[in-house]
Amino acid sequence: MNEFDLIEKYFNWQTNNPDFLGIGDDCALISIPEQHKLATSVDTLIEGVHFPSNTSAADVAHKALAVNLSDLAAMGATPLYFTLALTLPNIDESWLEGFSSSLKTLSEKYNLFLLGGDTTKGHLSITINVTGTLPINQALLRSGANVDDIIFVSSTLGDAALAWQKIQRDKTPGAKILKKFNTPEPQVLLGKKLLGVANSCIDISDGLEQDLSHILNRSKLGARIDISDIPLSDEVLMYVENTKDWCLPLAGGDDYELCFTVPKDNIDQLELITKELDIKLTKIGVITKNQDLEIVGLNKTCTSYQHF
Ligand code: ADP
Ligand code: MG
Repeated sequence: MNEFDLIEKYFNWQTNNPDFLGIGDDCALISIPEQHKLATSVDTLIEGVHFPSNTSAADVAHKALAVNLSDLAAMGATPLYFTLALTLPNIDESWLEGFSSSLKTLSEKYNLFLLGGDTTKGHLSITINVTGTLPINQALLRSGANVDDIIFVSSTLGDAALAWQKIQRDKTPGAKILKKFNTPEPQVLLGKKLLGVANSCIDISDGLEQDLSHILNRSKLGARIDISDIPLSDEVLMYVENTKDWCLPLAGGDDYELCFTVPKDNIDQLELITKELDIKLTKIGVITKNQDLEIVGLNKTCTSYQHF
């Protein structure tokens, strides 16, 4: 099988959508919906760095697209299309089958199209560039927080970090936290609903402490949060009670949940969203005027994930 057969067999899911010219030409062509702007983001996953070598092809594909969709979610954007740059050590058809069908399943769930890419030989790495749309005058930014905004996070934190820690120590993580590590669910629907409700938003990829600090730096404000308010799953709660290691949920990373700030006047709207999406949103603190992040109950400094 050569490169072109591979693309045709595993990645050419042409849909005859008149708004797109997809795989097969030198460039993809995209009609931009009227009164909208594009939101675009790229993320790379490298074997052994971002996922363990024995991760299934299906989980690798899911994670590669999910982490990109999480960036669109953080802006409140609606997914539109993506491109895929794939570097493979060899052509392994059963791997490609698992990868391609999982990628297709997640892209269909969020109604986005694969419009092009690049295929090369080398150490396994997956780069996805995802693009979504936003109404012309709307977007969730890191810079929009205001004093007295309430800070919220979605779902629970630290699950993926605990699963990864257990894998590294040859222990077996529970099914729930392993699922969050291997197949995170991007909060796309929540992000869209937060447009016009939240003042600022970020997705938590490198740990709450570091990612909330990005909001604070961009907004030139501070925050006070309380560790006892951080939402934890049963497994992470047990871990924290046993070890007192609050840094795992605060700085562990790989959560792909949203952290956002909401003015008091919009809390009622947020409650409606919680019900509509049947989702867990937890108040963890408040935005303050003095420009630092106070974490009540934490008596040490955590080290967040750094790429270098
Ligand atoms: P070029 O040499 O002009 O850059 P390629 O031969 O790399 O084009 O790719 C041929 C077509 O297949 C292009 O439309 C490209 O976008 C698409 N393509 C290549 N690799 C992938 C991939 N992994 N996934 C999706 N589309 C791909
Ligand atoms: Mg070309």
